[in-house]
Amino acid sequence: MQRIGIIKAMRAEAQPLIERLGLEPAPSPWPDRLAPGLWTGMCGPARIDLVWMGRDDRHGVDCIGTTAATLAAALLLSHRSPDIVISAGTAGGFIARGGAIGTVYLSRSPICFHDRRVPLPGFRESAMGESPCIDVSEMAEALGLEMGVVSTGDSLDAPRSDLDTMTRLGTHAKDMEAAAVAWMAAQFGVPMLAVKAITDLVDGPHATEAEFMEHLHTASDRLGEAVERIVAW
Ligand code: SAH
Repeated sequence: MQRIGIIKAMRAEAQPLIERLGLEPAPSPWPDRLAPGLWTGMCGPARIDLVWMGRDDRHGVDCIGTTAATLAAALLLSHRSPDIVISAGTAGGFIARGGAIGTVYLSRSPICFHDRRVPLPGFRESAMGESPCIDVSEMAEALGLEMGVVSTGDSLDAPRSDLDTMTRLGTHAKDMEAAAVAWMAAQFGVPMLAVKAITDLVDGPHATEAEFMEHLHTASDRLGEAVERIVAW
């Protein structure tokens, strides 16, 4: 049996996929005080384990960003032994690189952090991440999905230093989780893929927060549809 692990940050991003795949909530195999929640189900011959990163109870919002993503990935990898891990979510896109609201990107290797600057030998490269993801060009072609560079940082905004790094990397999808999931998957030696649907345009005329909220549900539907086809493929 193949085991596919999927990590989602926001409940709103996860819900369409939970419904599409008919996943059921499962008791967490990890300690209760850890936030991530688990949904499981079969999709043909494959078992799907979807980990939602959980709620930040102190602030009443979803856990987003690399700290919670690392935890969710470690729990998924150590408790459910997936054959492949997918970081699925929304991201900011770039008009300059052909992005549009609703575009779904499959990640191209490597996946880097765009906000970690440590100018010391060895630490510089470690901070950048540069974790591998699998080559899915054949699947992208078969499913008519685009491939793009995904890079990760812990902020929704994009200061100049981050933008410069993203220009250098040629980022198509700017998110807050993929590089952390890719790093943890590499530690476990498990193949990894990121799938990101664009909610907002970083180099567009609208404020990111407003654009993100406006398109979150549409992009999450697109994402759910794409991940369902990816899992089937
Ligand atoms: N206001 C939102 C916060 C969402 S943060 C709330 O209701 O909680 C954005 C989430 O979507 C992150 O998980 C991130 O991976 C993704 N994302 C979408 N657009 C992004 C962008 N422009 N930059 C960084 N992350 C983005």
